[in-house]
Amino acid sequence: MGDVGGGPRSDAAAAAAAVRPEPPPTPDEMAFLDAAFQASAAGLALLAGPELRYQLVNDAFRALCPGSDDLRGQRIDEHPPRVAAPLAELARRVLEMGADSDGETEALDVPGGRRWFAYLVHRVEGPSGPGALISLRDNTSQVQARWAAEAAADTAGRRAAELEAVMEAIPDGIMVFDAAGAVVRMNAAALESWRVVGIDIGGGGASSFPQFELRGEDGRPLPASEWPVRRALAGEKVQGAHLRFAPAGARPMWMLASAAPILGADGRVTGAVLSFSDETALHELAEARDDLVRMVSHDLRTPLSAIYAQGHLIRRGADAPAKVVERAAAIERSCERMSGMIQDLVEVTLLEAGQLPVARARVDVAALVPDILDGMRGGLDVDRVQLRIEPPCRANLDPARLERIVVNLVSNALKYSSQEVTVLLRSTGAAVVLSVADNGVGISTDDQARIFERYYRARGDRRPEGLGLGLYITRLLVEGMNGRVEVESQLGTGSTFRVVFPAEGAPPPAGAGS
Ligand code: ADP
Repeated sequence: MGDVGGGPRSDAAAAAAAVRPEPPPTPDEMAFLDAAFQASAAGLALLAGPELRYQLVNDAFRALCPGSDDLRGQRIDEHPPRVAAPLAELARRVLEMGADSDGETEALDVPGGRRWFAYLVHRVEGPSGPGALISLRDNTSQVQARWAAEAAADTAGRRAAELEAVMEAIPDGIMVFDAAGAVVRMNAAALESWRVVGIDIGGGGASSFPQFELRGEDGRPLPASEWPVRRALAGEKVQGAHLRFAPAGARPMWMLASAAPILGADGRVTGAVLSFSDETALHELAEARDDLVRMVSHDLRTPLSAIYAQGHLIRRGADAPAKVVERAAAIERSCERMSGMIQDLVEVTLLEAGQLPVARARVDVAALVPDILDGMRGGLDVDRVQLRIEPPCRANLDPARLERIVVNLVSNALKYSSQEVTVLLRSTGAAVVLSVADNGVGISTDDQARIFERYYRARGDRRPEGLGLGLYITRLLVEGMNGRVEVESQLGTGSTFRVVFPAEGAPPPAGAGS
């Protein structure tokens, strides 16, 4: 029993032990051994004899095998039943094979639930033949920690795969930056955008970017501190910035960019995400449209003015026969209608491009509306208009835009009815309400929902000519002055258009009556 250290032995030593059995341990040696056993944190048990009977067991072993207070002298396969079976099996194998077992972990159902034990069996030579030293450790917390780590790695892997798929499925370019502003990742759409512009990123990441300049929507260069990614790295969310990206040696590109900070668990910015779409084609289209409008407004208006002037001269000619005067007047009217349509086209383009700013001034609407109607005389049958005003009506408006609104609504009312048109102007305290009512052809419910859209014209026979832009322009102008426009109408009975502006000093209206 003096050789309890175990471990592989040379054949010669084993042979010597076989012919010369060692003396049994003295009581002192046993006491020393017992103390060493008890000091161990691992559960230790020493078994001897062909039946593998417990010789020495420490408290840690008893704690791991509850219900087995005094094991000494018992056979391993007798007690404790649950732990014993695999241990006995292992111990026999160790004895037969003459080598120590590798550390093995086994799940055992013990009172209180399933636990995982790691055990090692050493072969030891005793005075009465070979024995086994079992070292048992409760490994449950390590096993569970390993499982948790594996599950976390699994979740992280799945999340990474999802993110990858999302990034690749998005048609916009996506770029991820670290806290220092270096590109750490980009999707295929981003790579393709740079390739189209003429920048080959290849595998080189941000270092492959040429020097570039960013300009804002107004064309002015953006200082680096205002670049979306820099703003996101400073913790800001940037949405829908229209930018002109001009890299050295590559073709400039217009992009719609958004950026957001990436926050760590402690709330600190650890990077930023930039998403962008190439708007160059749209931008070129808008520029082409603006060029066309400039061309239309200038080049078409010039000959039209000449035709109008000639018609006017012919009509006013002293010796013109009545028939010629009549035809010249028709030429003048056609020129006026065409001029009105050109003006609508130009105004829509300017309004949509934000190039028709709305100036705001304190306006006495009650004084202005009669002047506007007066100015319409000549071209329109304003004598059919009944004006009712309940002053005072003041609001912060742009007088030129208000004129356009009144002219649009009143000329429509005269165009789509042959009877009296009533213009009513009144103040409700919070709002100034202008209504234009006619008893004309009316508008169907379906059409009412759409007449404020661009180019929309109600269906029906014998509708007077028009482009379907007047009410669209009216709505944009009214909304540009914090107002709203609405219609009430019945087919065959007539229509009432109502424009509601907040009165001077009042907030934008939530609702209004006529
Ligand atoms: P346009 O008169 O040039 O067609 P608008 O935008 O001014 O374009 O009007 C859109 C449509 O709304 C018109 O085509 C017409 O069908 C309908 N509409 C507008 N005002 C009236 C009205 N007072 N009475 C009946 N229909 C109207």
